[in-house]
Amino acid sequence: MAFEGLADRLQSTIKKITGKGKVSEQDVKEMTREVRLALLEADVNYKVVKDLIKNIKERAVGQEVMESLTPGQQVIKVVKEELTALMGGEQSKIAVADRGPTVIMMVGLQGAGKTTTSGKLANLLRKKHNRNPLLVACDVYRPAAIQQLETLGRQLDMAVFSMGEEANPVDIAKNALEKAKEDHHDYVIIDTAGRLHVDNELMGELQQIKAEVQPHEIYLVVDSMTGQDAINVAESFNEQLDITGVILTKLDGDTRGGAALSIKAVTDKPIKFAGMGEKLDELEAFHPDRMASRILGMGDVLSLIEKAQTNVDEKQAKELEEKMRTMSFTLDDFLEQMGQVKKMGPLEDLMAMIPGANKMKGLKNAQFDEKQLSHVEAIIKSMTKQERQDPSIMNAGRKKRVAKGSGTNVSQVNRLLKQFEEMKKMMKQMTNMQKGKKGKKGKG
Ligand code: GDP
Repeated sequence: MAFEGLADRLQSTIKKITGKGKVSEQDVKEMTREVRLALLEADVNYKVVKDLIKNIKERAVGQEVMESLTPGQQVIKVVKEELTALMGGEQSKIAVADRGPTVIMMVGLQGAGKTTTSGKLANLLRKKHNRNPLLVACDVYRPAAIQQLETLGRQLDMAVFSMGEEANPVDIAKNALEKAKEDHHDYVIIDTAGRLHVDNELMGELQQIKAEVQPHEIYLVVDSMTGQDAINVAESFNEQLDITGVILTKLDGDTRGGAALSIKAVTDKPIKFAGMGEKLDELEAFHPDRMASRILGMGDVLSLIEKAQTNVDEKQAKELEEKMRTMSFTLDDFLEQMGQVKKMGPLEDLMAMIPGANKMKGLKNAQFDEKQLSHVEAIIKSMTKQERQDPSIMNAGRKKRVAKGSGTNVSQVNRLLKQFEEMKKMMKQMTNMQKGKKGKKGKG
């Protein structure tokens, strides 16, 4: 998960200040120094860091903090607000054409994820916004780029317009637009060619396509793993094409995340979406405030709930919510939920969205792969009904019996019981958060 290092550092820094009843200028100075180092280490552009720290400092020693009753928490609020503003403040929407189809042009370097993201975006527009997009294959240079898009189209059962590798990309785009009007598509997503580096020929072609189809959006697709390079790429594409937004891909990878934090500041163009995996439903709207919460370890319950809503059966989700609230969640539910959770994507990504979950050691390394899942299933099934309802009765004798019955060993049984306990603890925390944060914050 991106931002892990940054999140760890920032969280331990702000922890020192959270519970303080009085915050001195020296405290603020120390905190901002740590925040600055953490950001630089995460590969955030140094100019961006400088401005951010200046803003935080000014506000943190200002009236709103010093005169408040909870200065420690006020400082954190300032840091969160500044991080949010840095990544673009309010989340921005996709343009809608007044008349005819809305045209989105996808641009970016080769390998950034343009073709995949075109498919993901079309999928998202249909699934979430009930739209009927047309995908257009304008990358006539990269071998098999057209076939790749056509394959995506088949997987998604989505229309793809192509004219083969011999055609001129400008003509393809122009004809695609006609076709979209004829067939009543409301969105047209044009997958353009990339290069390994920014070059004039490529920019010239993209400018021609732009002039021809007058896109409502030009999204630059950027690989977040490329760090500072991503910033330079974004700057040149923006200069030449005046992009309208950025899509960051591969945020699921092991990146330091600095690009995500600097790109908006450097180009002044919003990050609209983030690619969180290779699968076609792994594209998320980018919410700067939620991302800032995640980075600061405040969790992202909203995204988690949205994810659950698109992936989990609504009735089951309601039941789960009820069980979480009443704390009557049992090992049977645990088993059932595991299947559901698996549909929502890698567990560690989900964990990052839960407030405080990253601090629970037992959970941080929990890996629910297929094999482990079948062990878990076997263990739970070897338990009696009473044991599943109340695992606290599991003594050494019972554990031995269950291990034997499930073909596992006692330490595996112990691990599962521990994970279950941690999960319940976490739910309690979430429920408390939802009930309101009154008086719950301990001293840092
Ligand atoms: P293009 O040359 O820009 O069209 O790039 P592609 O769409 O072919 O993507 C290049 C590679 O990146 C492919 O293997 C994709 O599966 C992968 N990819 C794209 N987006 C993501 C993402 O968000 N996460 C991960 N893990 N991989 C991605």
